Amino acid sequence: MFTLDRREFLKTTALTGVGVVTARNGWALDKLEPVSDALNQDYPYRDWEDLYRKEWTWDHVGHAALGGRYLPNRKVGDILPEAGGFTVMTDGGKVQGDRVVLAAGLGNARLAPKLGLSVPVVPQRGQVLVTQRAAPKLAHPTVYVRQTGEGSFLLGDSHEDVGFDEGTTPEAMTFIARRALDFFPFLAELPVVRVWGALRVMTPDGFPVYDHSREHPGAFSAACHSGVTLAAAHAERLAGFVAEGALPAEFQGFSAGRFDVQEAA
Ligand SMILES: Cc1cc2nc3c(=O)[nH]c(=O)nc-3n(C[C@H](O)[C@H](O)[C@H](O)COP(=O)(O)OP(=O)(O)OC[C@H]3O[C@@H](n4cnc5c(N)ncnc54)[C@H](O)[C@@H]3O)c2cc1C
Repeated sequence: MFTLDRREFLKTTALTGVGVVTARNGWALDKLEPVSDALNQDYPYRDWEDLYRKEWTWDHVGHAALGGRYLPNRKVGDILPEAGGFTVMTDGGKVQGDRVVLAAGLGNARLAPKLGLSVPVVPQRGQVLVTQRAAPKLAHPTVYVRQTGEGSFLLGDSHEDVGFDEGTTPEAMTFIARRALDFFPFLAELPVVRVWGALRVMTPDGFPVYDHSREHPGAFSAACHSGVTLAAAHAERLAGFVAEGALPAEFQGFSAGRFDVQEAA
């Protein structure tokens, strides 16, 4: 049987995307002019970036309008299942509710067992290079290179197992820059202005975990690497199931039970 893991799938689609983009527009042959006043440039409207803005709006405006409260910077130490609900113990006080969704990224690994769940996630570091802003050039995102609406190019996609170290290394930066130049030689015109390392939330097979607790109904977990790409699915489908109180049978394949050999058998 032919199988394709998530990494291979992304690599294949990325390379296809790059090939189509460069062949159709001939951008790699053009000279790129850095701009000093990027904010006054006329950048084309790009639907794919709208997702980020909508996510912010949903988070900060939408749920407030529906009576939600946003309580940032409160570290959760414990979660206590109680009759008819849960008490979440934070360093800023208690929060009570009849549902709880674990969406703490790598922190889910520690919190999940408190609710009869398992979220076996580990950190995987990725480094990102950001260039000086430039006039609009690359209208479509690719896995390795993207131009933001503000003009910077983001170069990335390294994969390192280094625990919780969020640092950067010359080796990974060189690898990322070389590969980006292979596809888009015009990037050689632009200085890199900053670099950072960050930790991906990785499950053993790279696919998301969505679960509900049989032991403590009303408790859910959600963990994935592609939280940006999947934001619409989370907001429009997963959130509805949480409100209803259980995930449907079609979500069974996303359960962390798939990593339990005995349960899966
Ligand atoms: C290099 C890199 C490249 C990426 N590229 C993409 C991409 O191309 N497309 C895409 O869709 N996604 C991408 N991602 C992943 C995406 O940005 C999200 O980070 C990821 O999906 C996880 O989202 P999350 O909200 O579940 O977890 P996180 O973003 O990790 O957020 C979890 C939050 O929970 C908090 N937390 C943890 N423990 C506790 C606790 N006990 N109490 C209170 N708060 C706690 C953390 O501080 C954090 O703020 C990338 C990530 C990296 C690092």
